[in-house]
Amino acid sequence: MNKRFRPRLPAAALAAAARCPLAALAAAALFPLAVPAAASETEFAACLSGLRAEAPGKGVSIATFDAHAAGLVPDMAVVGFLDAQPEFVTPIWDYMAALVDDERVADGRAMLARWAEVLARVEVEYGVDPATVVAVWGVESNFGRNFGSRPLLTSLSTLSCFGRRQAFFRGEFFTTLKIIEDGHVAPERLTGSWAGAFGQTQFMPSTFMRLAVDFDDDGRRDLVDSVPDALASTANFLARAGWRSELPWGFEVALPAGFDSSGTGRRNRRPMAEWAARGLRRSDGSPLPGDAAPAGLLLPAGVEGPAFLVTRNFDAIYSYNAAESYALAIAHLADRLRGGAAFATAWPTDDPGLSRAERRELQTLLIARGHDIGEPDGMIGARTREALKAVQAELGLEPDGRAGQRTLAALRAQRRN
Ligand code: CA
Repeated sequence: MNKRFRPRLPAAALAAAARCPLAALAAAALFPLAVPAAASETEFAACLSGLRAEAPGKGVSIATFDAHAAGLVPDMAVVGFLDAQPEFVTPIWDYMAALVDDERVADGRAMLARWAEVLARVEVEYGVDPATVVAVWGVESNFGRNFGSRPLLTSLSTLSCFGRRQAFFRGEFFTTLKIIEDGHVAPERLTGSWAGAFGQTQFMPSTFMRLAVDFDDDGRRDLVDSVPDALASTANFLARAGWRSELPWGFEVALPAGFDSSGTGRRNRRPMAEWAARGLRRSDGSPLPGDAAPAGLLLPAGVEGPAFLVTRNFDAIYSYNAAESYALAIAHLADRLRGGAAFATAWPTDDPGLSRAERRELQTLLIARGHDIGEPDGMIGARTREALKAVQAELGLEPDGRAGQRTLAALRAQRRN
């Protein structure tokens, strides 16, 4: 939930990179150059002892500290993640294809039905509609299936003692202990991303403290094992970020030929009449709604790609994870859950991205060719990328390691031959 330390992609999308042994090795390999393992253990023990002394001043009892933090062993891989530059920039069409695929739409509709009563009460209480809440849930943790597997106290104590931003992570570390001390979440259930985002909503501990709510009235704010608490906490987050129940997030628009993209951007909200005067129409060709709220024009892939007029509700989603591609995935998934169609305008590429089902098929085809990439899980990690590069070279394609339709089609064709 923290803009600087949250991975660029949500857990549901990033798990492969976080879990992949090659990625972990690469991250760990960076660190011993700076601090040898033995030295880091001694340094960590001294640091932990200092944290123990600070605990009472941070509202954490020594008893809680000793029960849950005394025996911690550092995980140096997380320090590597803190400084890692993404080795592969994901095109927005790949990002959207995997986050908003038919599988997630079907899963999301099942969740809308299953949790309809809770979601209706959440909407009354916080003014955020069921489809938006469920879309966030689906992107953050794949509807509670993927929380991240790193023990929070291990990651956060390591980041409290090594690397940049130790003061920030100390706050998150003590807050995690406070969550345990207050009995909100079972300690063994506190696993998450390398940076400490956890549970169904992937909140950072400090975000939990500010915004998590107890919606099932058991006295605990449990974002791991209570779906009602998680759904209500997500809605509370969006409400506090400025969500307005009467507004849509926005909608897709069609640009006139030769459109001049000056004055665009999410934050540059203009009256609908101004956009109409510049020649914009709804994507189905109908006029813009005259009574709609001011909106900014979002062009995620430039004037050649899909275009969207977005309201302050889009900004509320953006504040959950500061990336426009993330906010667009949530917004579009919410529309799809309501029965909406795919975008009218295609992404400007001749090699579109793959759904998770297609990614699994691609991985199965790689495995059939003898590449050891683990289980076909639909997550494109370092091993899949390396295998892709080798296969692309064999097939006469650009060996960029990207999982796209062109490579999948070539692999399918080879298999038939
Ligand atoms: Ca509860």
